[in-house]
Amino acid sequence: MTTTPPGPDPDRLSPATRVVQLGREAAAAGGQVGAPLVLSSTYHAGGDVVYARSGNPTWSAFEEALGDLEGGDALVLASGMAAVTAALSLLPHAGTVVAPDAAYNGVVATLAAREAEGAATVRRVDVTDTAAVVAALDGADLLWLESPTNPLLEVADLPTLLGAARDRGVLSVVDNTFATPLLQRPLEHGADVVVHSVTKYLAGHSDVLLGAVVTARSDAGRAVHERLTTHRTLHGGVAGPMEVWLALRGLRTLHLRVERAQANAGELADRLASHPAVARVRHPGWGGIVSIEVAGGAEAAERVCAATRLWVHSTSLGGVESQLERRRRIPSEPPQVPDNLVRLSVGIEDVDDLWRDLARALDRA
Ligand SMILES: *Cc1c(COP(=O)(O)O)cnc(C)c1O
Repeated sequence: MTTTPPGPDPDRLSPATRVVQLGREAAAAGGQVGAPLVLSSTYHAGGDVVYARSGNPTWSAFEEALGDLEGGDALVLASGMAAVTAALSLLPHAGTVVAPDAAYNGVVATLAAREAEGAATVRRVDVTDTAAVVAALDGADLLWLESPTNPLLEVADLPTLLGAARDRGVLSVVDNTFATPLLQRPLEHGADVVVHSVTKYLAGHSDVLLGAVVTARSDAGRAVHERLTTHRTLHGGVAGPMEVWLALRGLRTLHLRVERAQANAGELADRLASHPAVARVRHPGWGGIVSIEVAGGAEAAERVCAATRLWVHSTSLGGVESQLERRRRIPSEPPQVPDNLVRLSVGIEDVDDLWRDLARALDRA
């Protein structure tokens, strides 16, 4: 695997260029241009790669590209929840974690389960209340952040919170799934670990389930990386090479997809604000996700989801296709999420086509 893209000084290349170039084998006459898809459970002795539960050249290619984008060292895992579980393995038994009161429901449910069995103390905070989060850090072991949060789109003050965690010796984890490393790089603000559901924007085509953790390129970060690598090898539910290869192919176009989704989302958020069937629009002003509260309650929200033709009524987000879902239809969704909230994952289609389809569904609600 090359670690240095060919051509001009790699440090001067923008992420848009690097993500196209990284994760390829060194140029050689007759060598393949695309990243390798390696399907082998074991390897000839004496090399860097030994056995497929601990390493695979296709993993390495993806990890090189994602690590570069986040500015750290990446490890690919079988799903976003596998990445969450790996990051939570850093919490000591019966340790204290400071976490958002409303966030991705899998994280909320996992923390609640650990709390119920006495394996963790959870201090739940409103991530937009910076002073309250900082106050909760005293004596804590881990700060868990998600920003913007899923699906309320609350934004945390990452530089302040991550700095405060660092000052107090509290390990910090940021779920960066919604922002992607193009819009936010938590390691630069002092995070110890970044978590991704690669399933979403990074892979981007609703065809793979995958996750990743990325650690800082510091001594402390490398120590955490080693613990997470051991966790992955021994936990054993590792990613399949085909999924990782597809995710790397998707990652090549991350810039184009995020740019277009974000432009579409901004335009739709503006138009939705003046639609009479929309009681509230949530959009941080950036990113490709918009959440709306539908006037007329949960039933009206369900009718909107059932009435679109172009927007896909399904869970998940970050694909090229626009998707929508009333989040509270999922029983484990936190009660802080209004039951008339519909999360819109804006895709890369033509914005006027998206608007006509959505406006028609809202008119009928
Ligand atoms: C989807 C999601 C996850 C879980 O990822 P999976 O790939 O579904 O396991 C974690 N965090 C956030 C913010 C998500 O949106």
